[in-house]
Amino acid sequence: MILIGTRDARDTATFAQASSGATPAHGGLFTPRDWKRWNDIDDLLKLPWALRCAVILERLIGDEFERAVIDEIVREAFDFEAPLVRLADGSLVLELFHGPTLAFKDFGARFLAAVLTRIPSRGPRMILTATSGDTGAAVAHAFWRKIGVRVVVLYPRGRVSPLQERQIAALGENVSTFAVDGSFDDCQALVKTCFADRTLSADLGLTSANSINIARLLAQLLYYFEGAASARKSGVAGRLVVSVPSGNFGNLCAGLMAWKAGLPVHAFCAATNANDTVPRFLDGGAYEPRTSIATISNAMDVGAPSNWERIAGLFGHDLTAMRAQLRSEAVDDAATAAEIKRLNSIGYTACPHTAVASRVLRTQLAAGETGMFLATAHPAKFMEVLQPILGRTVEIPERLASMAQRPVLSESIDTNAAAFVTRLRALV
Ligand SMILES: *Cc1c(COP(=O)(O)O)cnc(C)c1O
Repeated sequence: MILIGTRDARDTATFAQASSGATPAHGGLFTPRDWKRWNDIDDLLKLPWALRCAVILERLIGDEFERAVIDEIVREAFDFEAPLVRLADGSLVLELFHGPTLAFKDFGARFLAAVLTRIPSRGPRMILTATSGDTGAAVAHAFWRKIGVRVVVLYPRGRVSPLQERQIAALGENVSTFAVDGSFDDCQALVKTCFADRTLSADLGLTSANSINIARLLAQLLYYFEGAASARKSGVAGRLVVSVPSGNFGNLCAGLMAWKAGLPVHAFCAATNANDTVPRFLDGGAYEPRTSIATISNAMDVGAPSNWERIAGLFGHDLTAMRAQLRSEAVDDAATAAEIKRLNSIGYTACPHTAVASRVLRTQLAAGETGMFLATAHPAKFMEVLQPILGRTVEIPERLASMAQRPVLSESIDTNAAAFVTRLRALV
């Protein structure tokens, strides 16, 4: 796979280079140069999950990895399901939270870990990532005890749930965690400062595990095909509209890449919480990133979504083309809570992020269309939010409950970049 920089097409990289930390010299992100439209989608959708994943990945990165290696990666990374559930009101939910840390971030993090262990590295390798909750947990678990890799996770202190914090910060060993006195955007800014320092990046072998890493997006593209395949299998024939709860917009970007390759989806909904940079833009405003606002769907508290420039690039920066494919809406906390209650009343417990996607889908769906929303995390991860809304507890899966007793091993830091760089160098 050949990738080019979003800001200057003269910046190029292979998939192996981009996924192991190369960034474009002229700024921006690496993004695939070409999207071929596959003309055998009907056949692809008939394949079983693991085989379909391998076939798709071979088309994308088969020039860099042998098929046998891709098969191994798929077996290692995607050893859990993405079931499609039909609710009493007829809507479809693609549940992406059946991996080890109970959020869809497991797909990207486990794929990245499987890929990186198969790319030789000349020096040290450090995975540096900012998280609003779920990425840090998935990355820490995916790379825990992997030889020759140090993982560093930054998260906003007090803005992740207690269980999330334990998932991120209770592993230790090769996983170092920092609780930052600031927002997710502050964490991301610190990480960006480190990546912009080319000497530091080279010395430490810095690699991002955020959705700026293309490997994460390629992994996520796979479950969109699974969703379409399952919908077809269950007899859905109408136009499919997929609602994606969005923060940093990696998930939606992956869906749009799948669509470019031929995924049979009629339109997508970009569903956000009060952090509405993208809906404001698509409604005809200017593209104005803002400081993030804290909400009850905290994994989507992103005011300056990194992946938007990839998405804009997929549409050739053509606003009309974007609007033809993308519906968008922002949902506030009150409406999110009301939607959690409504879903509960029809027998479905949704996490706050999933509820945002469901709410947006209901207003954006036209007659004759079938709606599917993505469930991005297990509701038990957000017990503190759900319990007061539902007036009951949510059963905590054993995987999560086992973390609750473990101590948090984080170091607290402020947003001073120079001090953080010094701390980072001391870790190797
Ligand atoms: C990360 C996350 C999102 C947002 O995904 P993006 O790819 O950043 O848009 C939504 N829901 C949950 C539960 C998440 O962890």
